[in-house]
Amino acid sequence: MSKPIVAVVGRPNVGKSTLFNDLAGQQISIVKDTPGVTRDRIYADVTWLDRSFTLIDTGGIEPETNDIILSQMREQAEIAIETADVIIFLTDVRQGLVDSDAKVADMLRRSHKPVILVVNKVDNFDKFMPDVYEFYNLGIGDPIPVSAVSKLGIGDMLDEVIKHFPEDSDGDEEDDRPKIAIVGKPNVGKSSIVNKLVGKNRVIVSDIAGTTRDAIDTTIKYNNKEYVFIDTAGLRRKNKIKEEIERYSIIRTVAAVERADIVIIVIDAIEGVTEQDAKIAGIAHERGKGIIVAVNKWDAIEKNDKTIYEYTNKIKDTLSFMPYAEILFISALTGQRLNKIYELIDEIIDSQNMRVPTGVLNEILTEAVAMQQPPSDKGKRLRIYYITQVSVKPPTFVMFVNDKQLTHFSYTRYIENKIREAFGFRGTSIRFINRERK
Ligand code: GDP
Ligand code: GDP
Repeated sequence: MSKPIVAVVGRPNVGKSTLFNDLAGQQISIVKDTPGVTRDRIYADVTWLDRSFTLIDTGGIEPETNDIILSQMREQAEIAIETADVIIFLTDVRQGLVDSDAKVADMLRRSHKPVILVVNKVDNFDKFMPDVYEFYNLGIGDPIPVSAVSKLGIGDMLDEVIKHFPEDSDGDEEDDRPKIAIVGKPNVGKSSIVNKLVGKNRVIVSDIAGTTRDAIDTTIKYNNKEYVFIDTAGLRRKNKIKEEIERYSIIRTVAAVERADIVIIVIDAIEGVTEQDAKIAGIAHERGKGIIVAVNKWDAIEKNDKTIYEYTNKIKDTLSFMPYAEILFISALTGQRLNKIYELIDEIIDSQNMRVPTGVLNEILTEAVAMQQPPSDKGKRLRIYYITQVSVKPPTFVMFVNDKQLTHFSYTRYIENKIREAFGFRGTSIRFINRERK
């Protein structure tokens, strides 16, 4: 269920954004309203052949001087090594091979991550190929020539990228331990929560498991069951430059969420829920993960018998796109209700894996349609013939309809609510696909 992550690293002006736009097409996720990364494209979902992956553009701000370029490239390379399954190292045939390329190539080589060396701006293969060979000197394999502007060589590059993906994770290497990502703004208490949960319950994982990522995950045993908290080392790292903090924390969030079954979105009770929290929550929602909203620092606010109610309403309002989220009020400081997290995780995993028999689903559909007519347009009414659940994690339903044009978001939401009334599916998003039956 977790998709591979591909990161693009390279000096300014080699064509990272151009390549990113080629690959991302229409599916770009634009992170709106985040100061510093406004209208900037950070990640996108890409499908090539039958493989999907999340593409990350590590490049951000434009540095002015050469030594800043190098230090920023190092940071880009670091975050790529930390988060990506495959790294595209983009260079520029017209600028040729430069010193900072060699230094970054060294870093990437030492990481033992799969690195695809791509030489951009090869707009004319006959003319520029001799210059491409120079890039063999980097010692990170065969350079692949592309032209991001003319869209040349992109397919060959993608073929090479997907070769390095971990085997199709359908069987999911028998690891059925819940994987949990704890995300949220800086200082809301993410590290404190993990530290408190760990207490004496940390499981020392032998490094047979292999990858560097597994090594920085924290495994905790509770009630004889193991839970894996993802990427907690990344939680403690602090960057220097403000724009980078934002860009890199989004990249880390995307990467952690991608690997997780369940995402705990931590909100600071003192501050209350904010638009930035909503943006972070959106990343988890888009990816169909299980969601717990944890309102932390509950010890630090004045409360009366209405406080929980007021907080809940405010959260439901700000995070209105995820009404299914579980909400929990905790304190990492005192440990209040912290163990409830495990209970919720177990419940949500059950929801994510629940399968509803087709017969029962269609009874609910028939009843729902009888109670409220489907929408119509220009005299033609939507008909839903049949509904069936096609997959889990997240639970996904296909509805066979007479005409997809007639389907309407609000009616699908109505059907969703009916299904939730009957079966719960607490803590997980559920998806609907409309298919026309001719
Ligand atoms: P970034 O800073 O790495 O994101 O680079 P950009 O994508 O902004 O590209 C920098 C410049 O290189 C822009 O003027 C692009 O139009 C140009 N560029 C990108 N790809 C190609 C290419 O394949 N061929 C040529 N000739 N120019 C390109
Ligand atoms: P992170 O940046 O999200 O990992 O946040 P930290 O775990 O570093 O916590 C940020 C600050 O909030 C620290 O000063 C913590 O001591 C404080 N903090 C964390 N959890 C709680 C809590 O439950 N109650 C109170 N009062 N303070 C907390």
